[in-house]
Amino acid sequence: MSDNQSAVAVMPGQIAHWYEAPRKPFTYAERAKTVFLFGGLTQMHDQLIESVFQHLGYRARALPQADNAAYQTGKEYGNRGQCNPTYFTVGNLVKYLIELRDREGLSSEQIVSDYVFFTAGACGPCRFGMYVTEYRKALRDAGFDGFRILQFQNAVDFAQGGGDDGLILNRRFFFGLIKTVVAGDVLNLLGYRLRPYERQAGQTDAVLGQCRQVVGQALLNGQSVTRALRQCRPLLAAIEVNYLQPKPKVAIIGEFWAMTTEGDGNYRLQRFLEQEGAECDIQPITNWGLYTVWVARHNLDQQIAGQRGRQPFTWRGLWATVRTRVLLRIADMALKTTFYRFARAAGLVRYQLPDMNHLASISHAHYRNELRGGEGHMEVGKLIEANEKHKAHLVLSVKPFGCMPSSAVSDGVQSAVSARFTQVEFLPIETSGDSAVNVYSRIQMALHKARQRAESEYRATLDRFGLASDREDLPHASRQYPAKTVACTAANHLYSVMGWRRVLPKG
Ligand code: SF4
Repeated sequence: MSDNQSAVAVMPGQIAHWYEAPRKPFTYAERAKTVFLFGGLTQMHDQLIESVFQHLGYRARALPQADNAAYQTGKEYGNRGQCNPTYFTVGNLVKYLIELRDREGLSSEQIVSDYVFFTAGACGPCRFGMYVTEYRKALRDAGFDGFRILQFQNAVDFAQGGGDDGLILNRRFFFGLIKTVVAGDVLNLLGYRLRPYERQAGQTDAVLGQCRQVVGQALLNGQSVTRALRQCRPLLAAIEVNYLQPKPKVAIIGEFWAMTTEGDGNYRLQRFLEQEGAECDIQPITNWGLYTVWVARHNLDQQIAGQRGRQPFTWRGLWATVRTRVLLRIADMALKTTFYRFARAAGLVRYQLPDMNHLASISHAHYRNELRGGEGHMEVGKLIEANEKHKAHLVLSVKPFGCMPSSAVSDGVQSAVSARFTQVEFLPIETSGDSAVNVYSRIQMALHKARQRAESEYRATLDRFGLASDREDLPHASRQYPAKTVACTAANHLYSVMGWRRVLPKG
C-alpha cells in the first residue's frame, strides 16, 4: 500500500480504493528558488517558452529532447502497457532528475523541494488523462517521491488556493504562451520550407538559431514578437536556395506528440526525410489550438440541440450560450490573426491554416466528429484534404505503439480512406522506441514512389513551358516560396517564374 492510499480512512468491510493524496502546493514564496521544468514540443518551441517563463518571473528550464535513453528510463520506472509517448516523456523527466542527482550532486530531497515540472493535462478518453499519475509513479519509484507536477487542469485549483499560488495562470500567462507557440510554429514552418533547398548545407539551421535568439530576447524583455520576427525576415530571406530540385513532399500527420517531436520518439523522422531528399510538410501546434476551439463549439452546439424542447427557455441560459459562443469565436480569431500576423512579419507567405469545419465535414463519413482522443477526426480529415488539394506526394501517419486512438485511426479508418483516395501515397508507421531500421526501410520504399510522382510533375511542367531541364539560365531561386499549383515545389517554382515572365524564350 502506498502512502497515498494510507491517507484514506477505511472502515472494516470497505474496499480501500486507490486515492491520490494532494501534493505539497507550489507557493508564491517558492518562486524565486524553484526551477520550473517543462518540455515535449519542438526544440524551437521549448527554447522560446523558456524565455517567456523567465519573463513571467519563473526560473524556467526546458528539458532536452527525449531520446532513447529517456525511453529506457521510462520503461524502467513506468507501468507496463503504456503508450509510447508516455515512456519517452515520463522517462525524459526522470532521466533529467537522475542526472541532476548523480552528476551534479544534488540530493533527492533538494530536487524535490527546488524543482517542479509543468505539463498540459486532460481528462480525455486516451492515456493522456493518466500522464500525471504516470509521472508521479515513476518519480516515486526513482526516488523522487513528492516531486511536484503542475498541470493546466490542476492549475485552476492552484489559482483558487488563496492568492499564494506559485503558478499564476492569468491572461498574461496564456497570451504569452500562445504567442510563443505561434512564433515557434512560424519559424519551424519556414525552416522546413527552406532547409531542403538551401545551397549551403547548415545555413538554415544557423539562421534559425539566430532567429531563436532574436525572438527569445524579445519574449524575455516583454517586447513585441511581431517586431522581432520582422528582424528575422531579412536573415531568412538571405538564405540561398535552389528550388529547381524536384523533391517528394511528405505530409507528417498522426498522434500529436509523435508527429511533433524532433527526437528519438519518432526516430528523428523529419531529419531522416530531409536526408533522403524529401521536403516535410509539418503540422503546426496552432492547428491543435484551432481543433480544441472547434471541439468546444461543437460540444456547445450538441448540448443546445440536446436541450431543445426539453428545457424551458431562460434569458440566463441564452446569455450564457451567447457569451460562450462569442468567447470561442474570439479565441478562434485571435489564434488565426496572431498566426497570420507573425507569418507575414517573418516572411512565411502562402501558408494556410486548415479550416476546421471543412476537416470535420470531409472526415465525418469515415470517423465520427464526436469521437475524442488523439487528434480525433482531424487526422482523417488531413489525409482526405491532402488528396483533395493535392498537397503532398506522401502522407506519413505516425502512430505510437500502444496508442488507442491511433490504432483505431491509422490502422483501421485510414486503410479505408487511403483505398478510396489515391492521389497521394499513404504510409502509417508505428513508433515503438526500437526497430528504427524497419521503419526507415518502409519509408524509403514509400519515398521511392513519392519521388517518382514529384519528378513526373516536374517533367510535365518543364514540357508545358517547353523547357529543357538542363537550361542553365532558369532561375533557381525566387524571393518567396512559390505559390502552390501542384504538390512539387520545383514545379511550382517553374509556374511562378513562368507566370512572372509570361513567356520565356525557348532554349
Ligand atoms: S493519443 Fe495515443 S499516444 Fe497520445 S496520449 Fe493518447 S493514447 Fe497515448
